[in-house]
Amino acid sequence: MLPTRGYATSNPTANLEPFNFERREPSAHDVLIEILYCGVCHSDIHQARNEWDNSIYPMVPGHEIVGRVARVGSEVTRFAVGDLAGVGCFVDSCRVCANCKEGEDHYCENHLVATYNGTEKDEKTPTYGGYSSQIVVDENYTLKIPAGLPLANVAPLLCAGITTYSPLRRFNVRAGQRVGIVGLGGLGHMGVKLAASMGAEVTVFSTSPSKEEDARKLGAHNFVVTKDPANLESLAGKFDFILDAVSASHDFNMYLNLLRRNGVMVLVGAPEKPAEVQAFSLITNGRSLAGSMIGSIRETQEMLDYCAEHNITSEVEVIPIQQIKEAYERTIKGDVRYRFVIDMKTL
Ligand code: NAP
Ligand code: ZN
Repeated sequence: MLPTRGYATSNPTANLEPFNFERREPSAHDVLIEILYCGVCHSDIHQARNEWDNSIYPMVPGHEIVGRVARVGSEVTRFAVGDLAGVGCFVDSCRVCANCKEGEDHYCENHLVATYNGTEKDEKTPTYGGYSSQIVVDENYTLKIPAGLPLANVAPLLCAGITTYSPLRRFNVRAGQRVGIVGLGGLGHMGVKLAASMGAEVTVFSTSPSKEEDARKLGAHNFVVTKDPANLESLAGKFDFILDAVSASHDFNMYLNLLRRNGVMVLVGAPEKPAEVQAFSLITNGRSLAGSMIGSIRETQEMLDYCAEHNITSEVEVIPIQQIKEAYERTIKGDVRYRFVIDMKTL
């Protein structure tokens, strides 16, 4: 076993504290990755605090991992020692269900092995995430990091990047379309960059007037402050596609009403409480409300290569791990520009 250092929380109200644990020795198909950077996703906060009611403790969060391969198993063919490697929200799946066979492994029907707050394929051994010194992952669930991108800024692509890229692709967002992004946080700011790069006219819907200048720099064409619903009235029926990346409870109907005929709103944000949807918000204009969870390993690699080609990475604030408590508090307040990333050499 490999002694590993990390930060963990032990219950929904505890702070993250130093935590020592063991990783498995890499088996034939595994790579051992020395972690350089790990992004701080709002999902880390939801789960650390048991807001989705499925938390396993002790919990080492972190699923936006970039590092360097330190060792490879005997059968590994895609990675060599010294290569850059990325790990996202899951580290294995059953590989035999219909979804896995179709390359949609993130929707595995049997057992998706979450990077943390989950269990290994044995359904017993807990998984521990990227707020740690190293991780052991099957090479088939490890991503190749394109050369030439700043690594701290790449880490958030592994969750925030793929979670926004995947629905934009699934619904064929393209030039000539009007796209709305609700919530300018970690996911939202990637949604703006990606939708703009696909040619769409992008409008940010935000509760934070102070983010307008940033939104425009990220590629948004319009910025709407949502605290006053009157600001949305003239936009009714104008949007082809809306991506909702808000972490807290809010009114979906306000945004559904902005969709034109056959328009689609996709939820990626995952507030803890259910929300009310008026039938007429959907019936009018034949609108659809959909959801999307991260993306497959295949599509995550496609997204990383797309980002390299278009020179897209995340806007980050790099922190030492000792500042994780403040980073969580600021993220909850919406005060993040636009992703905290932990420099793991501070561990
Ligand atoms: P984040 O960085 O905290 O951003 C969330 C943004 O939502 C905030 O910056 C803020 O933007 C807005 N917001 C916050 N509280 C609000 C409120 N009470 N009312 C209206 N708007 C509010 O979070 P994130 O990491 O981007 O994650 C966003 C959500 O997506 C989380 O729930 C997370 O768990 C979920 N998620 C889902 C997936 C998936 O696979 N579907 C993957 C990753 C994360 P403004 O200041 O612009 O209003
Ligand atoms: Zn995430």
